Amino acid sequence: MAPRVNICHRTNGDTPFILITVDDHALAGHVDHGDGYPGQPVPGQSGNVFGTDCQVVTALACPCWANLTEAQLVTILSTEFGVRQADCTGANNDVFARGIDGNSTEIAAMQTDMSCTLRTSTNNVSMTSLPASVFDVCLTQARKVIQQLSVCFD
Ligand SMILES: [Zn+2]
Repeated sequence: MAPRVNICHRTNGDTPFILITVDDHALAGHVDHGDGYPGQPVPGQSGNVFGTDCQVVTALACPCWANLTEAQLVTILSTEFGVRQADCTGANNDVFARGIDGNSTEIAAMQTDMSCTLRTSTNNVSMTSLPASVFDVCLTQARKVIQQLSVCFD
């Protein structure tokens, strides 16, 4: 019996991709019409990835993190707003930093709900239930930023 593979099958309906399981020998045909795999990039959609149920998730779900350099992020948090709290060794591997204005300036990656947040006066991006691969990118970015902050305590 051929191996069975989970794929994100492209539809023409309201739900653009659905999770189906196909025989290995049927895979090539599905790939040819634009299918992909859970947790992998969406074919033809630069920057997007499939979630575990084949929902399309914007990759690097914190576009601000992707568009700003780390130095710029550090400036936003530590110079422009001042850092009130930063924590790089929180429970569950969480990392977060908040500006002196409290939650309105915040960079965070939280394992509890697989969320990734960057919030400043001009940017507000918060995504939850990210695929592990995307969350890991956010976690790495957040940790890099927080390591550069001058204040770091629990
Ligand atoms: Zn298909």
